[in-house]
Amino acid sequence: MGLILVHMNASMPTPIFGTSSNGQFSCATDTQHALRDLRTKRKGQPVFVLGHVLARKGKEGTFEVFNDRLAIVKFSDGGVIGYDPQELLLPTDIDDKGTAYFEIRPCRLCEQLFPLTAEECEAAEEPSRCPECRRA
Ligand SMILES: [Zn+2]
Repeated sequence: MGLILVHMNASMPTPIFGTSSNGQFSCATDTQHALRDLRTKRKGQPVFVLGHVLARKGKEGTFEVFNDRLAIVKFSDGGVIGYDPQELLLPTDIDDKGTAYFEIRPCRLCEQLFPLTAEECEAAEEPSRCPECRRA
């Protein structure tokens, strides 16, 4: 099992999570932030939904399959909706029980939401800009 990390953030309950050691599902990295960025999109991949259906916005779900060009996401209540893969953010970390943790932040420049990587979460100072703006 990976290193156990404790994330301190006064505004949120303190999740305890480990580094993803099973390698089964993907977490946010410097180069991949949304489902769109994954070369291999596995069924069951946890995602954070930014998309168009207001009632589901900001909810967590799991990627099921592609249907035409939409990524089908299933929610814990049984709801199923298709999204553009770029609307589906990857988790910051997944613990050894498979629980995904999402640390989602708005970019100070472009106001897009983006997930922190596990390393960014641990850093003394969180990035205030999304990866695209940081690269620009
Ligand atoms: Zn940005």
